[in-house]
Amino acid sequence: MTDCLFCKIAAGDIPSNKVYEDENFFAFHDIHPKSPIHVLVIPKLHLQSLADATEQDTALLGLMMDRVRHIADAELKLGVGYRVVINVREGGGQEVDHIHVHILGGKKLPF
Ligand code: C5P
Repeated sequence: MTDCLFCKIAAGDIPSNKVYEDENFFAFHDIHPKSPIHVLVIPKLHLQSLADATEQDTALLGLMMDRVRHIADAELKLGVGYRVVINVREGGGQEVDHIHVHILGGKKLPF
């Protein structure tokens, strides 16, 4: 999608502090971290939100969670534990309309 901030970040058209990239996914440090480690994982394919996913996106969503696990473990060294958050649409606090998974860690997180 041409006018999507996260599509532009994934394409490298807008700079970010990259953590990981492969053919299908891109991960970068959140510019306003809510914990000592706060990374966003996004698919390169534009999907507006979890609520907009269909059965056809099942493989992509499964792969995305596998990449989240890999990034948290191998790239961020969060073996002690971390939190995964997906905000969904306006009511769920989603501000950027391109599905993304927040990985939060680096301290003991309160509930
Ligand atoms: O789930 P939500 O849509 O609210 O999260 C968007 C996140 O994207 C925010 O945590 C915000 O700090 C982050 N962001 C970013 N780089 C940008 C714009 C937003 O890391 N250029």
